[in-house]
Parts: sequence; structure tokens; C-alpha cells
Amino acid sequence: MDPSRLIFYRILGLVAIVRLVIMLIREMKGRSWDKARNLGWYKETYPNLAGDGWVACFSCSGKNIHIRDTITTTKAVLNSHICQHCGTELYRSVTPK
Ligand SMILES: [Zn+2]
Repeated sequence: MDPSRLIFYRILGLVAIVRLVIMLIREMKGRSWDKARNLGWYKETYPNLAGDGWVACFSCSGKNIHIRDTITTTKAVLNSHICQHCGTELYRSVTPK
């Protein structure tokens, strides 16, 4: 085989391996994403900043919280709940696909 072709196939193989590793990291992140910092944790940590249907920011007490889709895995979308006023991440959640 001509050597430039061999290099081409090696690069293809390397790209495939890198993609696989990135996918695996995403799946692992998906499993632990909202284990530590979920809404339940937020309510427990800041009982006076969260109620039924509302959450306030611990850093600036703003009440405009928006959701950012952070990572999409094969099974779920990992959301970050961010304060619109100061940009602090308050808690995380997972939306199953
Ligand atoms: Zn804030």
C-alpha cells in the first residue's frame, strides 16, 4: 500500500477512537450530572431560597432562572439552571429523551 494512504487510514482510525472516548465521557457525565447538585440539594441547602415552583439565586437573590442545555447524551439532555441576573449555576437537572 502506498504510504500516504496508510497515514490517511491511521488518521481515520485515530479520529474514530477520539470520538468514541468523547462519547463515553459524555455518557459517564450524564449518569452523575445531577447526583450532587440537583433541585433537592438546592432546597436543602437554601431552604429559604426555594419553594413550590420558584427558586431564587443564592448569590444575588434574583428569581429569573433560565435553563441551559449543556450536554446531550444518547439518553438525556443535561440541563444547567443559571441565574439570568448574575450567571451563577444554581442547580442541575436531567431531561430524559
Ligand atoms: Zn444571581
